[in-house]
Amino acid sequence: MNQAIAVRNPRTGQIDHWITPPSVETLTTQCQQLRQGQRQWSEAGLAARIAALQAWQEAVQERRTELIRALVADTGRLSVSVLEVDSFLASLDRWCRRAPELLQDTEQHTAIPFIRLHQTAVPYPLVGIISPWNFPLLLATIDLIPALLAGCAAVVKPSEIAPRFVVPLQQAIAAVPALESVLAVVTGAAETGAQLIKQVDAVCFTGSVATGRQVAAAAARRMIPAFLELGGKDPAVVLASADLDLATSAILWGSVVNTGQSCLSIERIYVAAPIFAAFVDLLTTKAQALQLAYPTVESGPIGPIIAARQADVITAHLADAIAKGAIVHCGGKIETWDGGLWCRPTVLTQVNHSMLVMTEETFAPILPVMSFTTVEEAIALANASIYGLSAAVFAGSEPAAIAIAAQLEAGAISINDAALTAVMHEGEKQSFKASGLGGSRMGAAALKRFMRPKAYLVKTQAIADPWWF
Ligand code: NAD
Repeated sequence: MNQAIAVRNPRTGQIDHWITPPSVETLTTQCQQLRQGQRQWSEAGLAARIAALQAWQEAVQERRTELIRALVADTGRLSVSVLEVDSFLASLDRWCRRAPELLQDTEQHTAIPFIRLHQTAVPYPLVGIISPWNFPLLLATIDLIPALLAGCAAVVKPSEIAPRFVVPLQQAIAAVPALESVLAVVTGAAETGAQLIKQVDAVCFTGSVATGRQVAAAAARRMIPAFLELGGKDPAVVLASADLDLATSAILWGSVVNTGQSCLSIERIYVAAPIFAAFVDLLTTKAQALQLAYPTVESGPIGPIIAARQADVITAHLADAIAKGAIVHCGGKIETWDGGLWCRPTVLTQVNHSMLVMTEETFAPILPVMSFTTVEEAIALANASIYGLSAAVFAGSEPAAIAIAAQLEAGAISINDAALTAVMHEGEKQSFKASGLGGSRMGAAALKRFMRPKAYLVKTQAIADPWWF
């Protein structure tokens, strides 16, 4: 179990980093220590926890450059790495400001005049967080911040594919002793993740549907909750009344940001027949203008494919689509530069739902565009998926867009914009279908789900209850 794991650099294809997973004994001891620390963390109260997280925010700020540098090495892209660190800092700030109002006990009168209800909640002692490689820091910490504020201790196991950021993150944790006693970041792969589930009281998992099913089964065996954030195949529906310039720019961003390696990427585009040709022309022109982040990270916004295994998926999806008649307007293949694997934004037409590129998660900057003639047809196509993470609707009027949004089987719908949950975490949303399970990771519910509600039912008068014997 504690054999070192080699880590590939996405820009060079070379192994230039190693991680060592903890042994089962080490992980067990670490979890026991965190459990001990959690009692004091919870009892110290919210103000003390906020102070610790604010100290952490300062420690992260001091290591901002090292964190960005590590993320650039992990992912091969620059602007999203900067965004990851800055949104992590902003998220710490936002949660520290919101938590006091969300974590208050309440006193209520009840329908029974001599019984008062004191509503409180207690945190899960130890939460396990297992995260993927596509936004290494953001997804390792998105559930962590509310869990810590709720009073939980936590163990985070980031992906073995992009783990370099762990070192500066651990240094920032070590700078805050109160935090160090309740938070550990461990490195490792599937086996470490599986071991972690055996130790914790709740698990937050972000990753593929296939692994999510295994995590859910392991959590069910232990009767602990599993909060699952899984894959997606987000559709965009564009009505004939939509602003073409706005729709093409928004969809291009929503599909191509982070080189399409995002659960909430737009991966299917349904466009009303009267504007189809103009839409494809404009989208292709805009897509062709985007440059690779090669030869330097500053050269353009399109980073390398981070996980080499994903390049095989992309190649298979493209080959399947082309063999079944798809037309490639730009991009269309994996390119190898200096050992890194790259995919330029790829616009496809003549696509249909017999193709993998329209049904399975591609996780690439690929924009397959299909036309529709009626709104009913567009809704049926958008819903014809095992996934239901998020979606986008573009229309000339908000009511027309909302009428479609209401019928889409997805938890977050961007209206006249795309992939807004990447930048806005305020709205509560549930993943539909195979995209996830277990309550919203955004909005107020994201904090409350780390607490188990507890009710004190208080008799207020020394009288006999009418239902007693
Ligand atoms: P993955 O499922 O291969 O791995 C995710 C994590 O699970 C890694 O840390 C891995 O080491 C760990 N793991 C693997 N097997 C395990 C097991 N049996 N038990 C416990 N842990 C185990 O996913 P990935 O390839 O790293 O990430 C890409 C996937 O993540 C895509 O499907 C993407 O859509 C999804 N994703 C979802 C969201 C969301 O919010 N819904 C966000 C980002 C990514």
